[in-house]
Amino acid sequence: MGRVYNFSAGPSAIAEPVLERAREEFMDWRGSGMSVLEMSHRGPEFVSIATKTEQDLREILRIPDQYTVLFLQGGATIQFSMVPMNLSVESGRACYVDTGSWSRKAIEEARKICDVRVAASSKNSHYSMIPDESTWDIDQTAAYLHYTSNETIGGIEFPEVPACGLPLVCDMSSNILSQPVEIERFALIYAGAQKNMGAAGITVVIVRTELLGRASAKLPSMLDYAQHASNQSMLNTPPTFIWYLLGLVLDWIKSLGGLASLADLNSRKAAKLYRAIDASSFYSNPIEPKVRSRMNVPFILADATLDELFLTEAEKRGLTNLKGHRSVGGMRASIYNAMSEAGVDSLISFMSEFERKYG
Ligand code: PMP
Repeated sequence: MGRVYNFSAGPSAIAEPVLERAREEFMDWRGSGMSVLEMSHRGPEFVSIATKTEQDLREILRIPDQYTVLFLQGGATIQFSMVPMNLSVESGRACYVDTGSWSRKAIEEARKICDVRVAASSKNSHYSMIPDESTWDIDQTAAYLHYTSNETIGGIEFPEVPACGLPLVCDMSSNILSQPVEIERFALIYAGAQKNMGAAGITVVIVRTELLGRASAKLPSMLDYAQHASNQSMLNTPPTFIWYLLGLVLDWIKSLGGLASLADLNSRKAAKLYRAIDASSFYSNPIEPKVRSRMNVPFILADATLDELFLTEAEKRGLTNLKGHRSVGGMRASIYNAMSEAGVDSLISFMSEFERKYG
């Protein structure tokens, strides 16, 4: 079998031109006589890779100068702790919006560090909608409001950046780089790389520089944004190859025309998949249409006893990793930037054939 259409939620598909370039450069990075894997992180070659990656990210996302960009380890998960450790010290309070599994995890970790007010929750709707902002119970003395712009498991995405008056902190792990975003609206954004930014092992943090240096002096250095910032994200040995791969992904995004082109492509892919689901009586998606995720499309079959057969037949057609998250069951198609429209078309035609045969 050649390469499959990989609908995995993360680590997830990486665009072929990125993988090919990594292969071409693997043994000898641009005449250096070394693989990126072998380079000192403090040597001129790797420092040039790291610097260019940051410049390209700033250009693509239009990150203003008053923001610091960090490349950290520990996944998005360590950000669940680092955010309150670094930002909540003065007020001791933070607001969180609960829209699903990932925001709940962020809340659980924050509760270990500060007082958490859940300003809004989708729980009563079984996580199928986002409560209207006018109903949010916001504590204006809180240090920030945290939300998850795209719930990777539930398949809910905020269609707009909320306007709550507090400094905004966003877990953008599963929809960063999928569309243009106004960075100025945020105090801090974090995102793991393994969906739209390449491979697992690096997490990007974009933080308003004035917010750095407010952590307790007793905070271990590795948990302190200011320490990472003053050491160019090289407080210890960084995941060099993953950082380099992120740079290749950014080159690829530039070659496509940037985030506006990707936003069009992503909306088109998601719209046609939801249209196919809604048009059938065999497949369904429970999420309120205006907050449906453009990145992760969960759906269930009318007859759950057909789930295994669906997955096996899909696999035979080169459509892989469609099984839903263990906590929700059913199916989930993750269609990040690197999933082509042809891949989505192929999934849609397989789904309709399967329905005709067994539905
Ligand atoms: N937040 C979101 C929205 C995620 O999708 C994930 C991972 N799937 C995480 C946080 C946790 O990321 P990591 O595994 O990199 O810690």
